[in-house]
Amino acid sequence: TVKNASQSTYCFFDINMQLNLQREAEINNTMEQALKDKEFVVYLQPKVNLQDNSLVGAEALVRWIRDGIIIMPGDFIPIFENNGFVVNLDFYIYEEVCKIIKEWMSQGRKLVPISVNVSRVHLHDERFVDEIKKLVDSYEIPYNLLELELTESIFLNNTEAALSAMRKLRSLGFGVSIDDFGAGYSSLNLLKDMATDVIKLDKGFFGHDNMQREEQIIVSSIISMAKQLNMKVLSEGVETQNQSDFLKSVLCDMAQGYLFSKPMPVSEFEKLI
Ligand code: C2E
Ligand code: MG
Ligand code: MG
Ligand code: MG
Repeated sequence: TVKNASQSTYCFFDINMQLNLQREAEINNTMEQALKDKEFVVYLQPKVNLQDNSLVGAEALVRWIRDGIIIMPGDFIPIFENNGFVVNLDFYIYEEVCKIIKEWMSQGRKLVPISVNVSRVHLHDERFVDEIKKLVDSYEIPYNLLELELTESIFLNNTEAALSAMRKLRSLGFGVSIDDFGAGYSSLNLLKDMATDVIKLDKGFFGHDNMQREEQIIVSSIISMAKQLNMKVLSEGVETQNQSDFLKSVLCDMAQGYLFSKPMPVSEFEKLI
């Protein structure tokens, strides 16, 4: 009967909610020890120059590895953003990245900048940029080897704080990029105030192999606009040769995606440089 159906539907959602709450509680109870136990691990995904496919940088992406099982950031970052732990985690990741760069410098390796993700939560703290500077100074690393990715959506609710952090970072010489650009919070008007080096085009533009004519027009227009504003464009989530060919033809500067490489452990990335 209809009544039974609706009851079972209710029950279904209830169990899922229960499971989510349990999962969240478990994450809350284990995160601090996990940080001490070094269960959070930096993976690096190559960024390539689209004109010649050469390696030009990397993005640091966190993985939670527990009992050999890899937990993806989408499963815990939103929880950490709610309970505030993302600040501790991010600074741990930033320090791990500093150590990696320091190691490369001492080994005389070819150096490429590494970008890290900045959670919106950091912008609640005015000392954020100073803390980053202090950290990087303590490792004696040139600022331009660290790039900070600020998600487009940060600029929606927290415009002034985001713009001010971005300007400060950039005036110190850190690399700065806008992540997930075009994901839905149209910030075209904000572009004029954004002191950014790089725009990272959201992977939503490249969700399928045959881009529609409309999508191609939008992507190529953003690229030409960015060039006139002296910004570089990196396309995220490039998975096919068609996409790469198209992006190259419209003079997109850089790309990141499974076509070139998945995020990988640092030791594997080092084989590329
Ligand atoms: P993001 O910063 O936009 O990172 C790009 C995401 O796209 C990564 O997912 C990456 O693995 C994935 N990706 C790369 N190439 C492809 C592709 O060709 N196809 C598809 N479908 N996906 C691709 P990941 O590693 O799961 O990270 C998800 C999000 O979690 C990141 O999105 C970022 O917002 C957040 N995140 C990751 N690490 C950190 C961190 O250390 N701190 C903070 N605050 N956020 C992080
Ligand atoms: Mg990112
Ligand atoms: Mg993002
Ligand atoms: Mg992104």
